[in-house]
Amino acid sequence: MTFHFTQPLTLTLGHLYPDQLNLYGDRGNIMTLRWRCQQRGIQLRVVGLGIGDALAPDEFDLLFIGGGQDKEQAPVSQDLHDIKGIGLWAAIEDDMPVLAVCGGYQLLAHYYRPADGPDMRGLGVFDAWTIHKGTSTPRCIGDIAINWNGKTLVGFENHGGRTYLGTAKPLGHVLKGSGNNAEDHTEGAVYRNAYGTYLHGSLLPKNPHFADYLLSLALQRKYGRTAMESLFAPIESEHESMNGNGHMQTPLSANGTHATATAQPEMITPLLKPLDDTLEWEAHAALLERLGLYTEATTVLRTRQSI
Ligand code: GLN
Repeated sequence: MTFHFTQPLTLTLGHLYPDQLNLYGDRGNIMTLRWRCQQRGIQLRVVGLGIGDALAPDEFDLLFIGGGQDKEQAPVSQDLHDIKGIGLWAAIEDDMPVLAVCGGYQLLAHYYRPADGPDMRGLGVFDAWTIHKGTSTPRCIGDIAINWNGKTLVGFENHGGRTYLGTAKPLGHVLKGSGNNAEDHTEGAVYRNAYGTYLHGSLLPKNPHFADYLLSLALQRKYGRTAMESLFAPIESEHESMNGNGHMQTPLSANGTHATATAQPEMITPLLKPLDDTLEWEAHAALLERLGLYTEATTVLRTRQSI
């Protein structure tokens, strides 16, 4: 059964420190979320939040923080503590989806101890900490693939810091690559709907299922499952559901409200109209093959891993 929106859905994405934390194409994550919303008629507004800008959690539906070199992380650490930390904590405790990559991820844990200089304080959202083991220790660099809830996530990593988890749950487990610390096969961290990861790449273009998962979390949080169902209506036929001025409309039920779709709550995620992700999955599978993960690559191409 297909559905259409009966009123435009809107989301506001806060892009934290776009000028400081923007390594390895992390902006591609923003472009991917924007495109995947656009293809579904969802209006996505992106707001950059630089050093000194306040973070009012009620103004946003999801947040992104990218990666950066040590020298950029230091002022960001200070700003998180002086200005944005309280708003960011409030957003996370209110289940706002947050994606934090590499340097941004490290600063959402307790601290990042660089090779040189003092510890950089983190927010402690993730019960974890990061230690750079000195320039004589090889950096974690290269393609990486992990298992995320039985599906694969692929990307590129380049970090000197080694992250160790306390009680924080990992995002996934390393299939090939380093992950958090090249020792315990964990990668990333999760707290409520905040996701930390070392996967650059950028991450989301090659992992459309994870991009849609974040968008679904934001939509369900903003509109709620019941409201989401009422915003969607089954399309009986183009003719029946077009009104006089040619706009699609939901047949009104007896009490004048939009007929609630028969979608079950668990159907809301698929209510994000599936997109043609052929190219994305081919890129995903190609990276798996480069890592020698041929079985996983075949699975991806066969199942397209829709969530
Ligand atoms: N500067 C941090 C490190 O080297 C983070 C690097 C990054 O964001 N790619 O571990």
